[in-house]
This record gives sequence, structure tokens and C-alpha cells, in this order.
Amino acid sequence: MEKNKEIVLSGIRPTGFLHLGNYFGALKNWARMQYEYECYFFIADWHSLTTHTDTSELKLITRRLVSELIAGGLDPEQCTMYAQSDIPEIPELYLYLNMVAYKGELEKTVTFKEKARKQPENINAGLLTYPVLQAADILIHRCHYVPVGKDQEQHIEMTRNFAERFNHRYGDVFPIPKAFSYSEDLVRILSLDGSGKMSKSEQQMNTVYLNDDDELIRKKIMKAKTDQGPSAPSSEKPEYIQGLFTLLGLVSSPEVVARFEEDFNRCQIRYGDMKKQLAEDMIRFIKPIRDKAAALQNDPVFIDNILANGAEKARKSAGETLLEVRKALGFKYL
Ligand code: ATP
Ligand code: MG
Repeated sequence: MEKNKEIVLSGIRPTGFLHLGNYFGALKNWARMQYEYECYFFIADWHSLTTHTDTSELKLITRRLVSELIAGGLDPEQCTMYAQSDIPEIPELYLYLNMVAYKGELEKTVTFKEKARKQPENINAGLLTYPVLQAADILIHRCHYVPVGKDQEQHIEMTRNFAERFNHRYGDVFPIPKAFSYSEDLVRILSLDGSGKMSKSEQQMNTVYLNDDDELIRKKIMKAKTDQGPSAPSSEKPEYIQGLFTLLGLVSSPEVVARFEEDFNRCQIRYGDMKKQLAEDMIRFIKPIRDKAAALQNDPVFIDNILANGAEKARKSAGETLLEVRKALGFKYL
């Protein structure tokens, strides 16, 4: 199939193992987009420094993440995969974009306020300018679409503002990128205790990772939060129950989902049975991804080659953009 010429970019931080939220909220869409657009998917290792100061495992996690992304559907022949820190053109663009980003708007960013609350001992300037670095990640390839989750919509809006201000001041260099999703409602995978979302670096016993073994998957799912069941027919589901039905919808057959829906609506649901079924279907879904990721990790040279080839392609695109940026700014002396 002839690919669309439009450019797509998305990234993920090397902060832990991939989980169901990363898979259904991001990776599954990326794997589809790679056949339709020119795609760049990167490991956001500079971004992880804003919250994860210890870098001793960075290389290990980055390689593991590349293995997991490939096992989950990315094909390095179809998309460009690279580590952010291999692209020195990004921080130069970050510097220019910092001149069109205002302190007030950065301080108002929801994710900044949240992170600042969580780590009051380390409210570093990198945390404040996270949206500017993210804008540089996107604009360095003059991207059109950025597939992101709900939590990232505000950042994309900021990227659009920075790009518009730059274009207005110095000339039309950047297309104005858009957030992208295949469906109206973005999938959000809740943590198994119903408090917040599954996450790489938090909530680990309530998050199902693509690396979890069969026993651990069973254990986590069997202790997911439930209750006595509904007391009136066709009641509205509490959020934590809806979360389990969402997972069932993603990994079980339509017949299975319909059966438990019916049981719920007739007030005859047995959550123990539902969780047992969910655990077995989840294991069937995760096992091939886990096995493939493990096999890929046995070959670090293969992974390093993917990153090296990806960096070469990404630097070419980044260099072309930076040349236009420097020309527009009047910094082309030589
Ligand atoms: P961390 O805890 O380190 O922030 P994370 O699990 O939130 O990790 P990110 O690297 O921040 O993962 O995000 C990678 C992608 O996965 C983003 O597109 C994000 O929107 C998506 N994502 C993360 N968690 C979920 C979730 N629970 N449900 C749906 N999408 C998610
Ligand atoms: Mg996150």
C-alpha cells in the first residue's frame, strides 16, 4: 500500500515495563499507523530525567523498551525508531522554542502542577519546560499528527502555539501539528484497584505489565477491586467494574463479554468467575508478546542496530528542519 506522505511522531519514556495502558492507549495505534504514514517513534530518555534522576538502568530499560515495542507490533522496517538522546538537533531547536514559550503558560500546565506537587524537592527547570522539549521532538520532523492519550492534549496545544508564534515571527517553517486518534473515545486503562490509571512507574501491583508471568497476571487480576454486585437490574457500573469490563472487551471473545454483561444486568454476576475468565484470556493475549520481547532481548546487537539506523534516519530529517530554522532566524553565517 502506498503510504500517506504525512508525518507522525510519538514517544514513550524509559521509566519501566510496558503495560496494558501503553499497549491499548498507544502502541496498538502506532502499529497501525506505521503502515499508513511516515512514522517516527522514539524513546524519550531526556524526558525521563525530569522525574527519574537515577540513570544507572537507562540503557537496560531503553533496550528492553525497544524489544517490547517490536514484540507489541512495531516494525523497524516500517517506522523509524530511535532514542531522543541520539539526536543533538533536538536541543538546539528546544533552545529556539524556549524564546517563544512564556513562563506564565508553562507554570499553568496541568502536568507541571501535578508533578511539582509529587516531587516538591525537585521542581527543576526541565520539568517546567517539558512541553517545550516535547514541542521540539514534534517540530524537528515537521510532523502533522501526534497520536497521544487524553493527558497529553494540552501539550499538543502548546506545541501548536509555539509553532504558530515561531512561524509568525520568522516565516513559515512548521506545519501546525494535530493530536490524532482513530476513535472518538481514547482508551484509558484504569488501575486494578480503580484508583487512577495503570502506569509504568506507579501502581505496580495494580498494573498488568506485558512482562508479567502467568501466575502474576492471575494474582493481580484475582485481587482486582469488585463488590457484592448490583442490587437492581441494569444498574450503572461503578468505575472499577467498568474497568474490568473494558479489559474483558479487549482480550475476550464477544460471546464471553455478552454473557457477563447479561449476568450483570440480571444481578447474577459472579465476579470471581469473571476474573478467572479474564485472567486466562489476558494470559493468552500477553504470552506471545512477552515471549517475543524476551527473545529479542537476547540479541542486544540487533536492538542497538535498530537504534543506530533509526538515529541516522531521524538525524537526516532533523538536520533538514534545523537548516530551515537557522535560515529563518538568520543564523546562517557560513
Ligand atoms: P510513567 O508512569 O513513567 O509516566 P506511563 O505509563 O504514564 O509512564 P508514558 O510513557 O507517560 O507512560 O506514556 C506513553 C503512552 O502511553 C502515552 O501515549 C500515554 O497517553 C499512554 N498511556 C499511559 N498510561 C495509559 C493508560 N493507563 N491508559 C491508556 N493510555 C496510557
Ligand atoms: Mg505518564
